[in-house]
Amino acid sequence: MLGIPETASPDEVRAAWKRKAIETHPDKGGKMEDFHAARVAFAEALRIAENAPCAECIGTGRREERFGFYTMPMRCDACRGTGKAYPPEENSNV
Ligand SMILES: [Zn+2]
Repeated sequence: MLGIPETASPDEVRAAWKRKAIETHPDKGGKMEDFHAARVAFAEALRIAENAPCAECIGTGRREERFGFYTMPMRCDACRGTGKAYPPEENSNV
């Protein structure tokens, strides 16, 4: 129904919602129930996208780095140690 992949980023979900909202908006000749159903579905998709685990560290916030013969757990820079694929921007000052 949403026309987006399950792995879509929050930005992709928002862009897809914008397209769908224009398409289904009651002011544009769409049905109110379709518009509401899409809004609920996209809100859920956005919640999932924002909480998706980081693929770099598989949601742990840490990944192994090799130092010669040793491996050490290091903070994941891809998700800034949050373990989430797309951390909110307000966490960028850590
Ligand atoms: Zn990570």
